[in-house]
This record gives sequence, C-alpha cells and structure tokens, in this order.
Amino acid sequence: SADLALYKTKNSGRNNYQFYHSKMASEMKAEFELENALHKAVEQEEFYLHYQPQVNIRTGKIEGIEALIRWESSSLGPISPQKFIPLAEKTGLIQPIGEWVIKQACQQAKTWQNMGLEFLKIAINLSPQQFQQFNLIDRINEILHSTQLPPQFLELEVTESSLMQNIDLTRETLKVFRDMEISISMDDFGTGHSSLAYLKQFPFQTLKIDRSFIKDLHNNTQEQAIVAAIMTLSRGLNLRVVAEGIENTEQLNILKTLECEQMQGYFFSRPLSAQKMMFFLSNFQKIKD
Ligand code: C2E
Ligand code: MG
Ligand code: MG
Ligand code: MG
Repeated sequence: SADLALYKTKNSGRNNYQFYHSKMASEMKAEFELENALHKAVEQEEFYLHYQPQVNIRTGKIEGIEALIRWESSSLGPISPQKFIPLAEKTGLIQPIGEWVIKQACQQAKTWQNMGLEFLKIAINLSPQQFQQFNLIDRINEILHSTQLPPQFLELEVTESSLMQNIDLTRETLKVFRDMEISISMDDFGTGHSSLAYLKQFPFQTLKIDRSFIKDLHNNTQEQAIVAAIMTLSRGLNLRVVAEGIENTEQLNILKTLECEQMQGYFFSRPLSAQKMMFFLSNFQKIKD
C-alpha cells in the first residue's frame, strides 16, 4: 500500500478514479482466478478433510468429530474455507463440493467404526445453498446406504442464515432428516439475530456456542452470563451443547462451572488429517481405559 500512496501523491488526486478502477479490476481478476481454480479443483479433487474432536469432559468420551474441508490448489496453494466456501456458494460449486464432503466424511467415519475406534457422531457443515438442491435428501440417503454408516452417526451442522433463506423448505427438509434419525446441530449459536424463536421451530439436538463467546470468557463476566443463559435454555429444551474454540484451561474451567461439558477447540486438538485423527482416537481410548 506504500506503492499505492505514492501513486496517489504523484498524480495529485487527478487520477483517483483510475486508481480506484484499477484496484477493482485487480480484485475482479483475483476472484476470476480463484473461481477458475475452484472449477479445476472440483474436477481434479484437490480437496481433503481435516477432523476435530468434540470432547465430553465429564464422561471422557468423544461425542463427535467435525469434518472441515481443506483445499490445496495446484495453481494457488492452500486456500482457507473462509475464502473459498463463500465463492463456492455464490457459483453453485458448493453442491458438488458439499456432496464430496458428505461422502468422504461418512466413508471415513465408517472406516474408524470398523477399526473399533470409539466416537459417536461425524458432524458435517451444510451451506444454506445445499438446501436448495432438490435431491439433497435422496443424495444423503444414497451416501448413507453406500457407505453403510447408520444415520444415527451423522450430524448436520447448519447456521441460522441457512434457516433464514427459505424457512418452510428448510424446516421440512430438517424434519425429514430428523425422521431419518440424522441429528441437526445449530452452528455458531448466538451470532444470528433470532436464535430463540428459531430454536423452537426446528428439530435441533445440538447447539454449538460460537467461539466469539468463548474467546475472553475467563475475564469477561458478560460473556459468562451469556453462556450461563444458553446453558439454562438448552437444559429446558433438552439440547446438547458444544462450546467451540476452547484454547486454554481458564476457558475450560469456567465452562465446567457453567456445567457445559462438551467442548471443541485447539486445547484438545487442532483439526487433524484422517491418519492423525486415527492415532488421536486410539490414544484417547488408551487414556480412558
Ligand atoms: P465452523 O463450522 O464454525 O468451524 C469451526 C472453525 O473454527 C474451523 O475453521 C476450525 O478450524 C476453527 N477452530 C476450531 N477450534 C478452534 C480454536 O480453538 N481456536 C480457533 N481460533 N479456531 C478454532 P475452518 O476449518 O477454517 O472453517 C471455517 C468455516 O468454514 C467453518 O466454521 C464452516 O463454516 C466452513 N466450513 C468448513 N468446512 C466446511 C464444509 O465442508 N462445508 C461447508 N459448507 N462449510 C465448511
Ligand atoms: Mg461447524
Ligand atoms: Mg462454528
Ligand atoms: Mg463458523
């Protein structure tokens, strides 16, 4: 940006429009490149999954494992999901990508089960746009069938923005999943604006308290009050709660006193490759036994 400032002074404001224009053009070019690379990534399967455990600190069990997509582009290098998922959603590529994620994660969960590794559920993030996919239910059914993963071991994580996009369709779809015994989890809870109203209308089993409420939990009494309220609410509604983003013992201890038992975060494990997660699961079992 030093270069840009220099450019502006030299042209003493006269070329502000041109400056602005060329910045837009370079941003558009970057997005265009990213989109091309994403198309290629879908064709050439440049994706893989990382896995992060959800630990119950009271029972010492792993209640779930969240699958998180990773992309190593052959032309652009590693790109974070925060950057490419929104583009995939915008371009419709989220449908093939999302399907790949579900299939891959269910297959992996089944493999771990066959190895006798103990954990309860594989959790998969669904984008709002995936609910518009007319055959989503059929596709998930087919994947469960082909991978032989019983539906009770699948959890779908959705955010409030998913629910808002097409309320009736989404509610019906989620009810079908519920009837199939697939669990539904509300991700990033507390960051939307009408959380409480929607909790009643949709068949959730799990609430994930957003990381932003956990970050300064140990020295922020307001955040403690919010988490305490969420715990009371979830007990009343009989929901399982998972706190996201636990990084240290201070956060863990406060969550314990707030009677939140299930946690996910770097403190327990960073998201790991399938291979490393296998070792994590077998060592975790050894500690427990
Ligand atoms: P999310 O579903 O809320 O996932 C949690 C994010 O927090 C992950 O980031 C995870 O790596 C990160 N995280 C976990 N523990 C900690 C911690 O202790 N500290 C900090 N600072 N971060 C932690 P990631 O993997 O970059 O994913 C970002 C978001 O991208 C996800 O948020 C989810 O919304 C989306 N995403 C990831 N994989 C998929 C996918 O397969 N499909 C869809 N539709 N979205 C995905
Ligand atoms: Mg999630
Ligand atoms: Mg989350
Ligand atoms: Mg998130």
